[in-house]
Amino acid sequence: MNQEGDQDRINRELEARVNALESLLIDKSLVDRQALQVILELYETRIGPRNGARVVARPWVDPLFKARLLSTTDEAIASMGYTGRQGEHVVVVENTPQLHNLVVCTLCSCYPWPLLGLPPGWYKSAPYRSRAVIDPRGVLVDFGLHLPADTQIQVWDSNAEVRYLVLPMQPEGTGHLPEAALADLVSRNAMIGTDVVRAPAVRLEASP
Ligand code: FE
Repeated sequence: MNQEGDQDRINRELEARVNALESLLIDKSLVDRQALQVILELYETRIGPRNGARVVARPWVDPLFKARLLSTTDEAIASMGYTGRQGEHVVVVENTPQLHNLVVCTLCSCYPWPLLGLPPGWYKSAPYRSRAVIDPRGVLVDFGLHLPADTQIQVWDSNAEVRYLVLPMQPEGTGHLPEAALADLVSRNAMIGTDVVRAPAVRLEASP
């Protein structure tokens, strides 16, 4: 069996064990399935990715930090207090109008945990892992992201040694916003590359 086949088998076995354990805990009323789902959702989309969002928003307001983040990445990230397992060696790839970066782990689900929290289910799925390489533009369309035809897409394959983090482009018209407000605009998917960062919607005031 090839390496990918082995990894798929290991993932399936692990998933079966986790499901069995979860069912047992629920049967014995030790955990509540809905509560568990809420906690997972919180770590996947809210708490975890906020660290990464702060890291990619700072370069937008601090060119010196941007230079550090792109050259001595681990040191720059550690200076913001984000260290730990699965985040030891991060490579930041910068989006430009000409180049859009997309991150995948074709082998399993390598992911910069200290910056993004838990990987979402789709990131671990076989269809995403294979299609991101074969048809990245089609994958982005599935995510609702339609890039200009002349924007090149670069796919980065994370592994046990290197975890990639996308530095999205700062949306136009947000130059006046403070760093914290900019970080609030950054989604998890924008740091994986399946989305971009958008300016906040302009609120239309009702006429008096
Ligand atoms: Fe992996």
